[in-house]
Amino acid sequence: MIKLCAPFTAFFNIISPRRCLICFNFLAHTLVTIPPAGGLGDFLCAACQEQLKVCETTPALSSSVQIDQVFSGYQYGGALAKIIPAWKYHSRGEFSPLIKALVLLTLSRLSLSRLDFDLILAIPLTNSALKKRGFNQALFIAYCCAAELQLTLGMHELVKDINTEQQASLSRDERASNLGDDTFRLLNQNVVKGRRILLCDDVLTTGATLKAAAATLNEAGAVSVSALTLARVEL
Ligand SMILES: [Zn+2]
Repeated sequence: MIKLCAPFTAFFNIISPRRCLICFNFLAHTLVTIPPAGGLGDFLCAACQEQLKVCETTPALSSSVQIDQVFSGYQYGGALAKIIPAWKYHSRGEFSPLIKALVLLTLSRLSLSRLDFDLILAIPLTNSALKKRGFNQALFIAYCCAAELQLTLGMHELVKDINTEQQASLSRDERASNLGDDTFRLLNQNVVKGRRILLCDDVLTTGATLKAAAATLNEAGAVSVSALTLARVEL
């Protein structure tokens, strides 16, 4: 059923019409209707939404004994290959509400609930990387998950001291060797002991980063470590 805009909303949309964040075409429908709550129509036109392909399968991280389950929202490509780098590397904060909407749609589609986990963590950045980038994109995703699932978010428990080469710039073999057993550490091991962890990151490529972080959590006594990424590169 089409729901008409309230007069004020319609007037505001006429004097300041919203555009698609990717192609900048006007979101014409916002002139007469209200997009579904929690949907993507506030941010993307129909053509750009069609470029978003959900991940129907789970990745083969079978060689890893460190991670129980890996959940990914969307295939990395199309519109998402423009959205994530712009948001992550070029401080395009206007993408944050869209990222939040994508994370919430992923949680809903996968039927993940607060009963599945005890604690949510994010893949950390080094302090120098954080200063350069201005924010940790994985922590933003973890925050969205924690708020939606009403679970505790460990903001600073997992840390990364070693400045490794940026994973995105490396080959598959280089990614694995770039991260060692000491890449990540916990400030307080008791925080994860006996708990089921959901570890969040933005993009899954080879899984090397998630596996290295999960090894640290398992060593500290986590009952299980699952991972959620917004996107996954199909190798
Ligand atoms: Zn568009």
